[in-house]
Amino acid sequence: MFLSCVCEADGRLNTGHAGVLLAERRGSYPLIDLRILKTSAQQGEVETVTRRKVKRLLSFQRYCHASRLLRGLVPHTPRSLHLLDDDYLGQAAHMLSKVGTWNFDIFLFDRLTNGNSLVTLMCHLFNVYDLIHHFQLDMVKLNRFLGMVQEDYHSQNPYHNAVHAADVTQAMYCYLKEPKLAEHLSPLDVFLGLMAAAAHDVDHPGVNQPFLIKTRHHLASLYQNTSVLESHHWRSTVGMLRESGLLSHLPADMSRDIEQRLGSLILATDINRQNEFLMTFREHLDNQDLDLQLASHRHFILQIALKCADICNPCRVWELSRQWSERVCEEFYRQGDLEKKFDLEISPLCNQQSDSVPAIQIGFISYIVEPLFEEWHRFTEPSLLSQTMLDHLHKNKANWSSLRCAHTPSDVQSHSQAEEPEGEVGEGSDIP
Ligand SMILES: [Zn+2]
Repeated sequence: MFLSCVCEADGRLNTGHAGVLLAERRGSYPLIDLRILKTSAQQGEVETVTRRKVKRLLSFQRYCHASRLLRGLVPHTPRSLHLLDDDYLGQAAHMLSKVGTWNFDIFLFDRLTNGNSLVTLMCHLFNVYDLIHHFQLDMVKLNRFLGMVQEDYHSQNPYHNAVHAADVTQAMYCYLKEPKLAEHLSPLDVFLGLMAAAAHDVDHPGVNQPFLIKTRHHLASLYQNTSVLESHHWRSTVGMLRESGLLSHLPADMSRDIEQRLGSLILATDINRQNEFLMTFREHLDNQDLDLQLASHRHFILQIALKCADICNPCRVWELSRQWSERVCEEFYRQGDLEKKFDLEISPLCNQQSDSVPAIQIGFISYIVEPLFEEWHRFTEPSLLSQTMLDHLHKNKANWSSLRCAHTPSDVQSHSQAEEPEGEVGEGSDIP
């Protein structure tokens, strides 16, 4: 029987029946549950699975090497190591020394770690916060858990892949460091914030909830058409936590509490609940009644921080922001192509012919991102980082506007003028 756990916008947990929580088995459902798609893709899929298994094995070996390097334990016997790997890992380690800066290039970091950005980043941050020692975590189990999470992201998704998860985790780290918040956070808050960020989209199929509902995907009926994807991300995370045994040494009520709070954080990323969270946040700020000594208020702010991290792409420097925008639109268009191919109605934003990247981005920024980040700016009173993010947001919005004009056929503005508006990764010394 499926038992629901509903999290309220103020952070309170409302567990369905007796607090029992079921975990989803890993790999329990096909990528997209349409038999028509499977027949043509079957052969390629088998090859992909084998390739992924080999890649995972290699990744683990690389990770073992990387973790030694990050702890400063690299043996001084260069002959036993591949020189090129050393060079890349040296650069990755150098990047990690600046992991708290807002212009951190996660795409570059992912290349330098050979596709292991999520595992490498999480291990580093767990060390920064001394979480391994604090929670007496077993390193082998932690590696197993993080490896599973990273692998269960679909690398063929242009947007919802492990690099997005690593990007959200890096943003979350920046928010956890905000002076307004940092001094109040307990090790458990930090642990939950990082874990939720890393796993918040795990096993994302690359299509949205309406697609799953109209194709009668079994997840849609399992979760009764509500927060279908987010519920799946959460339950899959719980499944991996239990499979890896990462929390098995903790008292049962504590690990149950961690699972529930992870759910409350991950479910908060459902964009359909944006207004509910935004209004509660605004109300707290208007009334000035947030008390970060209270665990429930800190949990609410972690929900908001994760929501911000999840949609912070337009607040990044243009060069990074543009890449994310193109990736997310590519994923939308792929869904639109599938819908067209199988005579389904094309979902909003998914029609490449009528929904341009600049138009999608301007709508997203105006209705979703700007309202949330203006409140976050207010919450931080304001911080240098939140000011930087708003500056990028406004610049990027203006860039998309000029690109939209450039792509309107009747417009006389030359394409080249608007092609590369401004800004490069790493520009400006004032970026925190
Ligand atoms: Zn996400």
